Amino acid sequence: KEKIQHRIESNDKFFSLEFFPPRTKGGAVNLLARLERFREADPLFCDITWHPAGNPGGDTETSSMTIAGASCNYAGLETMLHMTCCSMTKAEITRHLQRAKQLGIRNILALRGDPPSGKDDWVPPEDGFNYATDLVKHIRKEFGNHFVICVAGYPTGHPDALSYEEDLIHLKEKVDAGADFIITQLFFTAETFIKFYEDCRKAGITCPILPGIMPIQSYDSLRHIVKLSKLDVPQDIIDVVSPLKDNDEAIRNYGIHQATTLIKALFDADVAPGIHFYTLNREVSTTAILKQLGLWASKPHRPLPWKMAANHKRTGEDV
Ligand code: FAD
Repeated sequence: KEKIQHRIESNDKFFSLEFFPPRTKGGAVNLLARLERFREADPLFCDITWHPAGNPGGDTETSSMTIAGASCNYAGLETMLHMTCCSMTKAEITRHLQRAKQLGIRNILALRGDPPSGKDDWVPPEDGFNYATDLVKHIRKEFGNHFVICVAGYPTGHPDALSYEEDLIHLKEKVDAGADFIITQLFFTAETFIKFYEDCRKAGITCPILPGIMPIQSYDSLRHIVKLSKLDVPQDIIDVVSPLKDNDEAIRNYGIHQATTLIKALFDADVAPGIHFYTLNREVSTTAILKQLGLWASKPHRPLPWKMAANHKRTGEDV
């Protein structure tokens, strides 16, 4: 199978989808069904977030791994596993990477992560890493080119960075350490991404940069995400969503329109090889946007891997 960076570098527009590991068994069942439905649309890859022990909803490294394994082996999707490094030792990281490799995962989003919230006295493990660049170097050193490596980029600068310019220098270091492509933090205007794209190119960052788009799906989720990501929402978006805050359907319809318009502007400016969706584990908005953009592939149904295996066992024939 072709590695994802080859398809990213080709001229076909594509999309990818981010999910987080659900906290309940029911949530996991729903997510698997959702992955099966999204599979019909032919995403380039799906990625599963990583939640280190000690953070809210934490201690779910195993869930991230399990869900990524299911996405890869049950739903047959090219899968990227996020991995943060700041709260693990080198040995733990290597063990997780080995497990990911065993599961057939070939793509890692290498991240620093954040210290556990509310723990001001927190110190990183002695035999660990301080920055995502260190994780990228470690993956390349221990696993060669087995994994396609992605890193995070911040169109308005990372909130902890001394400056936007300094953050770009560190982004270049991550790419130079061996990353194949970048996914950005979410943003709200095409101008934000276009400026970032141009600044990256000026800084000598030549790899593909995938814009991360979060369709606005409800007032509360928008508030929660921007607080978490320390982002500012443009006033014109606040002016629309504030009066609608109790009307989820109206906000969702606005979110579909806003994201579709934003993505079209990025494609028109020829700055995005494809689009990465922060789905928040939901599907209505992302599906509508993909259909409006003509990115929802209408391919013949591909049987699921486990169904193919079951058929093969029953008939003894190759399928
Ligand atoms: P880094 O690239 O290491 O940068 C962190 C900060 O350090 C930046 O301010 C940078 O400028 C600075 N820096 C880097 N190198 C140096 C250096 N040598 N000297 C001084 N300063 C330096 N978090 C999760 O917990 N789980 C997830 O699954 C997850 N997925 C994400 C997916 C995407 C696409 C994005 C954009 C973010 C995600 N995050 C996730 C959040 C991420 O962990 C945080 O934003 C974290 O604070 C930074 O991670 P990073 O990999 O960008 O860090």
